Amino acid sequence: MKSDRALTHDKTEFDAVVVGAGLAGAAAAMVMAREGLNVALVERGQKPGGKNYFGGAIYTHAIADLVPDFMDRRPPFERPVTEAGFWFLSEDGLTRMTVQGGKLGAEPADAYITLRANFDPWWATRAQEAGAFLIPKTTVVDFIRAENGQVIGVVTDRPQGEILAPVVIICEGVNNLLTQKLGLIDRDLEPAQMALAFKKVISLPMEQINARFGLQDDGHGLAASVLGDVSLGLPGMGFIYTNKTSVSIGLGVMLDVLATYRLRPYDILQRYLDHPAIAPLIKGGQLMEYGAHLIPEGGYRAMPKLYAGGALVAGDAASMVNALHWEGTNMAIVAGKLAGETAVEAHSRGDFSERVMSRYEDRLNEGFILRDLKQYRRFSKFLETHPQFMDVYPSFLNDALGQFFSAYGKPKKELFKDMLGALTNRRGLLQATGDIVSMARSVMGW
Ligand SMILES: Cc1cc2nc3c(=O)[nH]c(=O)nc-3n(C[C@H](O)[C@H](O)[C@H](O)COP(=O)(O)OP(=O)(O)OC[C@H]3O[C@@H](n4cnc5c(N)ncnc54)[C@H](O)[C@@H]3O)c2cc1C
Repeated sequence: MKSDRALTHDKTEFDAVVVGAGLAGAAAAMVMAREGLNVALVERGQKPGGKNYFGGAIYTHAIADLVPDFMDRRPPFERPVTEAGFWFLSEDGLTRMTVQGGKLGAEPADAYITLRANFDPWWATRAQEAGAFLIPKTTVVDFIRAENGQVIGVVTDRPQGEILAPVVIICEGVNNLLTQKLGLIDRDLEPAQMALAFKKVISLPMEQINARFGLQDDGHGLAASVLGDVSLGLPGMGFIYTNKTSVSIGLGVMLDVLATYRLRPYDILQRYLDHPAIAPLIKGGQLMEYGAHLIPEGGYRAMPKLYAGGALVAGDAASMVNALHWEGTNMAIVAGKLAGETAVEAHSRGDFSERVMSRYEDRLNEGFILRDLKQYRRFSKFLETHPQFMDVYPSFLNDALGQFFSAYGKPKKELFKDMLGALTNRRGLLQATGDIVSMARSVMGW
């Protein structure tokens, strides 16, 4: 199966090329190299992670699948997620609905808060250990095709930078220019299917983070999704993750919403950071990092075709993100792994045709990725058509709970009447019931 890497006068030959040494790409390269294939892992950044940016948490089920002894290899995690949930912001209030202990007390934890500049090099090293050949500072700009249209290699931005390989796995992330170039999707990214996430990393002493977020020590961490006033009640979601000595805080808002309401990302982020319930948490902290990145949130309906003769696409490039659950990293790793397995199968058959490449989709259908994305296929549309979940309900929750916990000496019949009024002043009972049914339909896939 293994072929020697042969350097012709201007073309290098490998058994497989992976575009992008992110989460999906390094996973695909790891799987193929372990099976003895000569793999080129091409990354446009100075090094893996150099161009990467996220919230966020990374999930151990996906890492363990490829590196079962990952904890012995000192992964550069920040903190385990020992507390997770939703924070609902009203204009001047905050209701926290988080869970801690129980399943979140497992060791190793199911999720670890991570900074990608640290994690991605560690992850790509696992692929290099398996034998993959990392080519950094190199951008893939096009494909080489056979006469029948099948992909047989890539063109990079280096002089004489063509690399031949019978299979190319595209893991280029959200800016899926190559996926489009191959014709796997016939349109550019649509603003209604893309969230722009903007984030600050704010440095604070560990003890202050522990005290402000109620965490025992740096063996405990919080991952919170923040809804409501954070995005001015418009479709979007905020987040807070506690690192060891910094806090990652930001929000994602759909691109079309930013354009329609002429919102400037840094204004909304600053408004969020100035919120009376948020500002004290980061007070006195030093800004370490400030940036923005797109998230493909269009789900199943925005996905490209996942294969062509000689090519496969995985991760963000294929819109593999479940926005409600912040699942993107695990989908990228698992899809990268399944793409790698398909390439190995193609090598063993000596057949890289579209028919064999389609086995990748079969593999994706057997696991959680395509099943979940199909189930949630209406969710992004649901958020677009039900803005009340970002506006009415978070402020109702704050109002109603505020009344409940301040009704001392008040006849409780009056209290419950007032609490009901806090809802009906905002949304009729019939409409609220309809909203709940619609929400259930959109997440259950009915
Ligand atoms: C602010 C934010 C918060 C997030 N929070 C979470 C979270 O908490 N949990 C979660 O699971 N997900 C989260 N996500 C989503 C998650 O980051 C992505 O789903 C995941 O990184 C996708 O991995 P990937 O390998 O497909 O792409 P990426 O990680 O983006 O990797 C793509 C790689 O390809 C390289 N590349 C691109 N084009 C080329 C080219 N032409 N040639 C060579 N190299 C190329 C890039 O430099 C990059 O290294 C978040 C995203 C954002 C933006």
